[in-house]
Amino acid sequence: MEIEKILEQIKKDIESVETINKLNEIKIKYMSKNGIITELNNGIKDIKNEDKREYGIKLNEIKNLFNALYENKLNEINLEEINKRLENESIDITLPSTNIPMGSPNILEKIIEEIEELLMSMGYDVVDGPEIEEDKYNFELLNLPKGHPARDAQDTFYIKDEELLLRSQTSPVQARVMLEGKGENPIRIICPGKTYRRDDDDATHSHQFMQIEGLLIEKDVSLSDLKGTFDVIAKNLFGQDCETRFRPSYYPFTEPSVEIDISCFNCQGKGCNICKNTGWITVAGAGMVHPNVLKNCGYDPSIWKGFAFGFGAERLAMLKYGINDIRTFYMTDLRETKIFNRKDVD
Ligand SMILES: [Zn+2]
Repeated sequence: MEIEKILEQIKKDIESVETINKLNEIKIKYMSKNGIITELNNGIKDIKNEDKREYGIKLNEIKNLFNALYENKLNEINLEEINKRLENESIDITLPSTNIPMGSPNILEKIIEEIEELLMSMGYDVVDGPEIEEDKYNFELLNLPKGHPARDAQDTFYIKDEELLLRSQTSPVQARVMLEGKGENPIRIICPGKTYRRDDDDATHSHQFMQIEGLLIEKDVSLSDLKGTFDVIAKNLFGQDCETRFRPSYYPFTEPSVEIDISCFNCQGKGCNICKNTGWITVAGAGMVHPNVLKNCGYDPSIWKGFAFGFGAERLAMLKYGINDIRTFYMTDLRETKIFNRKDVD
């Protein structure tokens, strides 16, 4: 056996290899059934007994060398592969970043959530109700009997005769909750939701808008409680310097009724465009629940009292975020909504 020659050949063969496939071919050349080393192994039977030991030692030397070189080469090729892949996959941090568009919370939803959270912290429950409503809940129980001008078909979307309509306010939810209270349980609720009126859409009117109404029924409650409650709401929405004032007004379902103004957050009362130079901005309607409404909904007005308030989410959002067209909220124009990124709104 020309052992030196074979050792040299193995070294040469393995050294020149650069790929796994080639390395496998070398393995076949030496170690397969008809491979060089296998045949040397098989040849041992033809060796004279006295030479067998030496032959075996040489054969082992060849096998060990082959295995060692083979393992080394295999590791080398694998390492190279990994390095090559890492190089290809490396991130070039000097490249400008990709602009990933981010969604923003809906402004109306944001305002509503803010008010919900605040009022829940004051013990109010958030209640939902149907948008297709019966005349009874939308008008009748709320002291708006048949013939009342607010029921006019020009103002309300009637669906079936004068019995079924798209609710023109969220107050029917209040009527439903009062009826459930059976004249026995105190009530603290807010009911935010969509309402519908037959308005011609323009910058300040929309046939659909979001109302947020609150109702509190207790045995001992007065107009000053309403003032205190709304003062907290206004300060939370528009800052701690925000002041509130009540102006007498008229609503069929409250007596006395008030309109609630807040001091102008833009000019701090000095007068500007937003407050039309009055220093005050009207944001809500409110009042003490009318005795007829209490009675209609099962509460004895000689025992129970209550206050109710309501405002439009769009109006609050328009004031708070300087939006000057109510249609912005419903036109799904991404350019408008994109102005508010998460950071601004949060
Ligand atoms: Zn102002």
